[in-house]
Amino acid sequence: MTTLLGTVVGVDAAAKRVLLEGGDAISYDTLVLATGARHAYFGHDEWEPFAPGLKTLEDATTIRRRILLGFEQAERETDPEKRRALMTLVIIGGGPTGVELAGTIAELAHDTLKGEFRNIDTRDARVVLVEAGERLLPVSSRNSPPTRRMRCNGWA
Ligand SMILES: Cc1cc2nc3c(=O)[nH]c(=O)nc-3n(C[C@H](O)[C@H](O)[C@H](O)COP(=O)(O)OP(=O)(O)OC[C@H]3O[C@@H](n4cnc5c(N)ncnc54)[C@H](O)[C@@H]3O)c2cc1C
Repeated sequence: MTTLLGTVVGVDAAAKRVLLEGGDAISYDTLVLATGARHAYFGHDEWEPFAPGLKTLEDATTIRRRILLGFEQAERETDPEKRRALMTLVIIGGGPTGVELAGTIAELAHDTLKGEFRNIDTRDARVVLVEAGERLLPVSSRNSPPTRRMRCNGWA
């Protein structure tokens, strides 16, 4: 097997050639495309600037930076409502990634950052996991906890 560092920019199926960035091409007999998947917004691409996906290390550091900057803003915020909003973190999707991320953020707020701020207590942060289905981890377990429906005045 040969492993090459390169970015595929196209496939010439008629000539059976894979086209690489920079102009090189590689001939093939059988081609397998395994370039992974991007996150989807289910027809709401306008959400992307507010809710980054989590597929790469860069995505992960972006999310961590936003969370930490949110706490820094909350530290300086004097309006209790705005401070509460800054300390509320919403994760959309109760699959494995969403559940793991919710747990990690709760751990960050409750343990890692505890005592790091003067004006806020990061343990007051609210982590809200929003799942459209009846249960969390729908593909992993039939015994996963049921989701709660939100009423206009709170949680059912
Ligand atoms: C946060 C998170 C947690 C996860 N946790 C688990 C877990 O605990 N257990 C589990 O089983 N699965 C887990 N998964 C899922 C798992 O990572 C994926 O199912 C798996 O990586 C898919 O493998 P793949 O080879 O199809 O794609 P990928 O792993 O995405 O690999 C695709 C590769 O193609 C390369 N590529 C893309 N475009 C080009 C191009 N044009 N030219 C050249 N190269 C290109 C990319 O750089 C990448 O290296 C997790 C996923 C995420 C996002």
